[in-house]
Amino acid sequence: MSDIGIDDLPIRDELRGKSPYGAPQLDVPVQLNTNENPYPLPEQLVRRIAERVAEAARGLNRYPDRDAVELRTELAEYLTRTGKHPVGMENVWAANGSNEVIQQLLQTFGGPGRTAIGFEPSYSMHGLIARGTGTGWISGPRNDDFTIDPEAAEKAITENEPDVVFITSPNNPTGTAVEAETVLALYEAAQATKLSLVVVDEAYVEFSHRPSLLPLIEGRPNLVISRTMSKAFGAAGLRLGYLAAHPAVVDAVQLVRLPYHLSAVTQATALAALEHTDTLLGYVEQLKAERDRLVDGLRAIGCEVTESDANFVQFGKFPDSHAAWQKILDQGVLVRDNGVPGWLRVTAGTPEENDAFLDAVRAVRGATP
Ligand code: PMP
Repeated sequence: MSDIGIDDLPIRDELRGKSPYGAPQLDVPVQLNTNENPYPLPEQLVRRIAERVAEAARGLNRYPDRDAVELRTELAEYLTRTGKHPVGMENVWAANGSNEVIQQLLQTFGGPGRTAIGFEPSYSMHGLIARGTGTGWISGPRNDDFTIDPEAAEKAITENEPDVVFITSPNNPTGTAVEAETVLALYEAAQATKLSLVVVDEAYVEFSHRPSLLPLIEGRPNLVISRTMSKAFGAAGLRLGYLAAHPAVVDAVQLVRLPYHLSAVTQATALAALEHTDTLLGYVEQLKAERDRLVDGLRAIGCEVTESDANFVQFGKFPDSHAAWQKILDQGVLVRDNGVPGWLRVTAGTPEENDAFLDAVRAVRGATP
């Protein structure tokens, strides 16, 4: 039995020799590698989740609300309140994490014979979900400081004519926000040659110094904003992502979503969390301050730091970033090596975790000046 491996099975050719995505889940004292929120949900919210889930449990013999109407209404309310743009339930769609939102978008707008582009380094799952949905992947350019050069990006869109364009703002793993003017220029380029879908992945936008790009969906039916409750809401374990777009986009993803994809338990838990939005956004303010402290602390140690609008910071430069990652790990602190040569990424944790991280980097840099 054990001599049979994946590649001995009749899997699709494009999956041969590939490894699954995933950061190492190591049991070390300080884990700052997956851009999670370090604060557990407040007790009051935990109790409210228990209540709402108990209520949902009484109806678990039935399938959940397939259209998740109550949840989408509350998400629309949250977006309207925080995004400086009114949206309704018909503009919002929800799924199991924004990864599933992205998968549904690629199943609908990508697929065999079609392509998607992202400006790399960026969130590597965009390319991996493209592969999983049979969509060709194009790696678009970024400047050396990890900003997007609108002209170079427009050229890549015009030359390649992708069906889907990903713009991640703030970008993972670099933390870089994208100017609204750049998004508009790329949207125009993406509509000029053929009508392509532009997905702005705003997984980290609540941590940004700038407002959400949500208002840009007005009058732009092929622009989608993708969001998640995994980061700002501190609910990575919940698996709840959502999008805001023209209602026609919401109608389009219905063509590929699995019926009842969002369990009644998920919907109940997300609704409970949305009742506590203000408390949760209070943690976001603390994390933004800690993120800025990490930037200052790393610079004081002599590291280079990429400007960050997210809940993480890209720092370097190391002659051998993987060796530096290992040395920081040896000090009990797990950060992320995203494979960007010379750079590592640290997630903003609690003040104590961030102190431990800064001590570890100081020790490592002391050892390898
Ligand atoms: N987009 C970006 C840019 C991310 O970094 C992540 C998570 N690392 C996601 C989407 C997916 O998050 P989730 O599926 O938990 O919503």
